[in-house]
Amino acid sequence: MEHTNEFLHNLIQLSLRSKDTEIGCEECEAELDQYVDLLLAGEDPAQVMPALEQHLSVCSCCHSEYEALLVAVIAAAEGE
Ligand SMILES: [Zn+2]
Repeated sequence: MEHTNEFLHNLIQLSLRSKDTEIGCEECEAELDQYVDLLLAGEDPAQVMPALEQHLSVCSCCHSEYEALLVAVIAAAEGE
């Protein structure tokens, strides 16, 4: 039984480590332009930048920034 627990423990540690793709607000801000560009290009940014997508889903601060950027970019595109 102890062996099994140890195995599971290692497995959990490993899966936690692989979640290191999580990004912070600074990285999110830095890549937000690219995310919006992908979206407007008809791509699926969640597929290309899953870490950013994940951050947006948990960080309301960055999400409102993302919405503001999206509105600004669309407004600029319509103004052309
Ligand atoms: Zn954030």
